Formats: sequence, structure tokens, C-alpha cells
Amino acid sequence: MITALGGGVGAAKFLEGLSSVIETETLNIIVNTGDDICLNGLYISPDVDTVIYRLSGVIDKKKGWGLEGDTFISLESLERFGLDTWFNIGDKDIATHLYRTRLRNSGFTATEIASKISDAFGLSRNLKIMPMTDQDVETWIQTNEGEMHFQEYLVKRRMKPEVCRVTIRNIDHASPSPGVIESIEKARAVILCPSNPIISIGPILQVKGVREALKTTQAEIIAISPLVGGVPLKGPADRLMSGLGLEVSSAQVARLYCDFLDTMVIDLEDAHENQAISDMGLKTLVADTVMSDKKKSATLASSILELI
Ligand code: GDP
Repeated sequence: MITALGGGVGAAKFLEGLSSVIETETLNIIVNTGDDICLNGLYISPDVDTVIYRLSGVIDKKKGWGLEGDTFISLESLERFGLDTWFNIGDKDIATHLYRTRLRNSGFTATEIASKISDAFGLSRNLKIMPMTDQDVETWIQTNEGEMHFQEYLVKRRMKPEVCRVTIRNIDHASPSPGVIESIEKARAVILCPSNPIISIGPILQVKGVREALKTTQAEIIAISPLVGGVPLKGPADRLMSGLGLEVSSAQVARLYCDFLDTMVIDLEDAHENQAISDMGLKTLVADTVMSDKKKSATLASSILELI
């Protein structure tokens, strides 16, 4: 069994390659739910859906999220009622959120819902999508223009406000969802996907018992940096890291994980950071981490599996 921790876009790209090279071995994927939001009465779990859409082959590859060939007519129609339309939900995508909302309102947990959605998209049974917790948590960003939900900062405000602090609301009351700790304890390897270390991996590490399990497991723990040439390929990782007073580098990402990490994977463009990471007592793998297609992500996954 291999266990992965991740957020949305970067994680999903890597997992597509990994799942294609591990054949029948079980892959448990612990997914961030701090990005979840309820809008216009619909419960949306963007990272969970992005991973499911990518692994079932229906994702809009160009965007990296949403469903291929989707349209946005219902969203436009909501404008008539003066409702929020800044969060991009496609006409096909809306069905997933309606289904999730209906199940939530009937008392199903996030774990049960993820499993039902995975089944509906035909995901193989050896790919298990595990929301990090069944409790509701939300990532909020404190900025120079006030505090806002992460999605508002990312999508509505297009990462313009300056970041001062990140808070994961309710995280102190969040217990790991069923199987999360066991997946870390029993895996032969745990892989931290190339995801935002602050708002994707960070919340997972804050769920009760997760960091401890990572420190004590016998599994080989490997993290892939989401930075290439010192910058994220997409998203606000650099703004969040510098807003929190952290250096923006793969070495800094390694520093955030070094109490439990064995190996840090960095991009060829960041090879000069190799020494700084080795000095932390970690092994390093310098590889081409830019996953522009499934073949490249499979190649990256294969070279990581060779480390185990
Ligand atoms: P989000 O919730 O969609 O932002 O999900 P993630 O945290 O998984 O994704 C954002 C991170 O993925 C960014 O920091 C990107 O730099 C990183 N990322 C996306 N594609 C790639 C890739 O091909 N290679 C690497 N190394 N990182 C990537």
C-alpha cells in the first residue's frame, strides 16, 4: 500500500502518473478539505473533486480542474438573482455538488460521500480518496484588506491582497477520518504530492495525530516540491510563503516537513538547493518534476518508486 497526501491540481497530476505505474497496489489518497466552501447552498470540495476528476479521466486538462467540455450557463443564470457567481462551477460539475449536498443533508460523512462520488465516476477500488477529516474545516486568509475564505482570496480577489496570516478554522476539533492514521502507519511509502505546503499539505498535517503518525511510521516518506525554478507553476504558494515570512524555496518546503521526511524531490532547475536540503539530514532526488502530460508524471512517479 502507498499513501499520498495532497491538494488539488498539482497532486492530481502526480497521482495520475503514480496510479498508472503501481498497477494493482492500493493507493490511499488523503486529500485536503480546508479549501471546501458552501456557496449558494451547495457544498463544494474542490481538492477531492479535482483528484477524482483527474483519476477518472474526465478532467478539463487545460484548466487542471473542472470537467472537460463543461459550460457555464447555470452560473450565468444565477446572476439574475444577485447570487455569488465568482466561483466557477460548470453545468456538468454542478451535478457533483448537488449530489454531495443531498448526501450531506441526509447525514452522510465526507468520507462516505467521496467514496460514492468515486464509485459514480468509475474509480478503481484500489484508489481510495480519503478526505483528511469528516469535520468541517475552512482555510481563512488574513490580508491587508481583511480576512477572507481561501477561495475568496484565490478566485474572487485573484490573490491580489497581501497575505499576513493563514488560519485553518476548526482544525483543533478535526479528527482524522476513518483509515487516515492507519494508512500512514501501514504504508510502505508515504508521498507528499507537489501541493501548496501552506494551504494544501499544511491543513492535513494539522489534523490530530497525522504529524505524529508521519514521525513514527516505518514507511519511507518522500515529498515532491511544488516549486520549479523557485516559483509555483500555478497558484499562490509563493505569496503565502512570503506573507508568512518564509523563504520561497524548495529547501524551505523541505524545512516544513523535515521532522518526519526522508527524501525531498526537487526540480532540475532547483538543483543548487540540493546541498541545503542534504544539510538538514534529508536525502534528495533531483528530477524533472514538470508534469506537462501523463507520460511525464508517470516517469516522475517511477523514479520516486525506485527510491523505495
Ligand atoms: P490547489 O488546491 O489546486 O492549489 O492544489 P495544489 O496545492 O495541489 O496545487 C498547487 C501547487 O501545485 C502549486 O504550488 C504548483 O506549483 C504545483 N504544481 C502544479 N503542477 C505541477 C507540476 O507539474 N510539477 C510540480 N513540481 N508542481 C506542480
